[in-house]
Amino acid sequence: VSVLARARTIASGVLDPELPPLTIADLGILREVRETEGGIEVLITPTYSGCPAHAAIMLDLELALAKAGLANVRIRTVLSPAWTTDWIGAAGLAKLKAIGIAPPVAGPRAVACPRCGSPETERLAQFGSTACKALWRCLACREPFDHFKCH
Ligand SMILES: [Zn+2]
Repeated sequence: VSVLARARTIASGVLDPELPPLTIADLGILREVRETEGGIEVLITPTYSGCPAHAAIMLDLELALAKAGLANVRIRTVLSPAWTTDWIGAAGLAKLKAIGIAPPVAGPRAVACPRCGSPETERLAQFGSTACKALWRCLACREPFDHFKCH
């Protein structure tokens, strides 16, 4: 296995600190892992500028790659093009649903309840358990849920 392939596998397995079952690859935060003259370069794009999880992701990446014995790794933040929820892959959307977090929706559409699927929901608070989530409540089953809103 090449160094590049190993670096790719390790980087893809780093979990997002906001949404632990999802990896940064699931969320589309991991843009590219490539070989450069000096070693390996990892490119990541934060879900939104100022996302508090971003520094933690960079540190986790560095630690994971160092632990695997990969030297000369550079982690770079790429801000353009900006991250969009479209970058969340099918695996990421399925994992979000499995943990009861409503996936991000494009535009002003209603957020469907991740438990019963009802579109009758209301936002309770702009911030949920973390800054990247908003707290919503389902009007059908009355359950509160987090909506991943970073986009
Ligand atoms: Zn519901």
